Amino acid sequence: MSQISEVKCPACGEWSKWTNKVDEKCPECSAYFNHGRVVYEEEKRINTERIKKDSYLITNDTDDPVVHMLKQFVNWLRWTTFYGISAIYFVIAIMVVVYGLVML
Ligand SMILES: [Zn+2]
Repeated sequence: MSQISEVKCPACGEWSKWTNKVDEKCPECSAYFNHGRVVYEEEKRINTERIKKDSYLITNDTDDPVVHMLKQFVNWLRWTTFYGISAIYFVIAIMVVVYGLVML
């Protein structure tokens, strides 16, 4: 099901079909119909990538061996903390189920 509607280009005023895509451009002057939304989507994507990068320290070859080891240790710690918490929740869930069965 594709929604096709007519849209007026904000740049040149030509009417054309709009398929509601984020990066829809005017066929006449190739201006974005919804520039604000394009920028917003792009910013959201960049922010998501930044958060992903920030959660792990990047190790460089130029790093001091000690710094390099420390960075790797911190990365390992973060990784194990994340999966450790998930594992604890899983164990608690199993314990609740087992406890419930015993009580029956
Ligand atoms: Zn246009």
